[in-house]
Amino acid sequence: MNNLIETPICNLKFGRNNIYIKRDDFLPISFGGNKARKAIKFFDEIDKKKYDAVITYGSSSSNHCRIIANMAAMRKLPIYIIGPKESSKPTFNSKMMNLLGAEIIIVPVENVHDTIENKLQELKNNGLNPYFIQGGGHGNLGTQAYIECYEEIRRYEKEHKVYFDYIFHASGTGTTQAGLVCGQLLNKDKRKIIGISIARQNPRGREIVIDSIKEYFNEKKIHIDEEEVQDKTIFLDNYIQGGYGKETDEIKILIKEVFISQGIPLDSTYTAKAYLGMKKYIEENNICGKNILFIHTGGTPLFFDDLKEL
Ligand SMILES: *Cc1c(COP(=O)(O)O)cnc(C)c1O
Repeated sequence: MNNLIETPICNLKFGRNNIYIKRDDFLPISFGGNKARKAIKFFDEIDKKKYDAVITYGSSSSNHCRIIANMAAMRKLPIYIIGPKESSKPTFNSKMMNLLGAEIIIVPVENVHDTIENKLQELKNNGLNPYFIQGGGHGNLGTQAYIECYEEIRRYEKEHKVYFDYIFHASGTGTTQAGLVCGQLLNKDKRKIIGISIARQNPRGREIVIDSIKEYFNEKKIHIDEEEVQDKTIFLDNYIQGGYGKETDEIKILIKEVFISQGIPLDSTYTAKAYLGMKKYIEENNICGKNILFIHTGGTPLFFDDLKEL
């Protein structure tokens, strides 16, 4: 898999700012998205070190699990997905996981950890060398994927002589945000990267992003100023709406409006929340005349699930 793929950045031209959108939903594998960007890194390692089975976890609506299942299937590797019973109603993502031949093991959420451990041990006992991927593609490789995305953004800026004052995106496990902020810190850029939380609340939500940033720099033995990390990690929890996976009327209206006016699918769990959060933040802070980049982090199959409710 070639990892020198750049996703397009398009100018949306509306409102009082110059809004651009980076289409990470266009990554050319299994409907793309930030989980595809991260997965490419994990599978580089799987290929290089010749692992022969893959284990990960996530809910039935997980974009991460769909992509991992797809990339494992492409290599004919057995793939095991541990899912919490509490969120396992069928979705387009879970249908694809089935189609891809993933073995899905549904257990009560409190048993997820032990089930993973047991499955890993069982596979090893059977002479396999399984690779474990954290839910959502969390971890330093996931962070690395978004440092590279940040570098793509900088290359675009140079080529097109534009500077993004703000970057907005949906923040969940925080790996996407950690990567972007690491990229910013490494380059000492002054802009604001704003993670719109789709579920987690502060202070915990922000701390998790900061932990990921520190973990990455620790591994790379790069010294980074604590104050800088604190200063650059902006994780907003005031646009969560109803919580994880909950859609409100406002969200539904926005999904419809953006699809009709821009031809861009958003979903109620991630990208629509982030887009709505961005719009509100711009209004509340009276921002005008700025260059603003929205990263479309994918989740297109969830748009089709939403379609039933629109
Ligand atoms: C997982 C996901 C996110 C959140 O990314 P994190 O790196 O977990 O913060 C955002 N958008 C979509 C579409 C996702 O699937």
